[in-house]
Parts: sequence; C-alpha cells; structure tokens
Amino acid sequence: MSLDNETVEKLGNSILSIASVLRKIQGRQSEALDMLENIGTSIINDPTTLPRLAPYGYCQDCGKLGSNRERSPNGDTTCSAGHKYPSTAALETPKP
Ligand SMILES: [Zn+2]
Repeated sequence: MSLDNETVEKLGNSILSIASVLRKIQGRQSEALDMLENIGTSIINDPTTLPRLAPYGYCQDCGKLGSNRERSPNGDTTCSAGHKYPSTAALETPKP
C-alpha cells in the first residue's frame, strides 16, 4: 500500500492536531481523550477533510465536547456527559 502526497499531508496534519491537543490539555486527560476520539472519528467518517478538533462544538452547560449530533437542521447535540441541547447553541470553544 502506498500513500499519495495529499494523504500523507493530511495524516501529518492530523498527527500535529493530536500533538497540540495533548500539549493543551495537560492534566485534563479525559477531555483530551474525548478530543482524540473526535479526531479519529472525523478521519474515518470524512477522510477528504482535515479533522476539526471539535466538530460538534462544546456543551453549553458543562463545556464538555459534543459527542453526537442529530442530522436534521433543527437537531440536537448531546455532550459527552449526556446533556442535550440545540445544535445551534453549541459553543465553538471550550468553557474556561
Ligand atoms: Zn454537558
């Protein structure tokens, strides 16, 4: 199996994303693991785009990563702690 240059570049960028996650979240391992799972899922579901660190944003209640999103336009997102909220209310950055 050989990889073309584009694939190698995406792979490299994904690894850099993972490294930046680990660097950013020292001491917050469970959140880092959530982010890594999201990165892996992004790569598997859509290998043509670079994974975003938080494709579903963050919970408006507890600030954890959104882990599941309904596909309808007015669908809800569920965070990794189980809160359910409108997808449009998801935060783009984690709560401090
Ligand atoms: Zn939550």
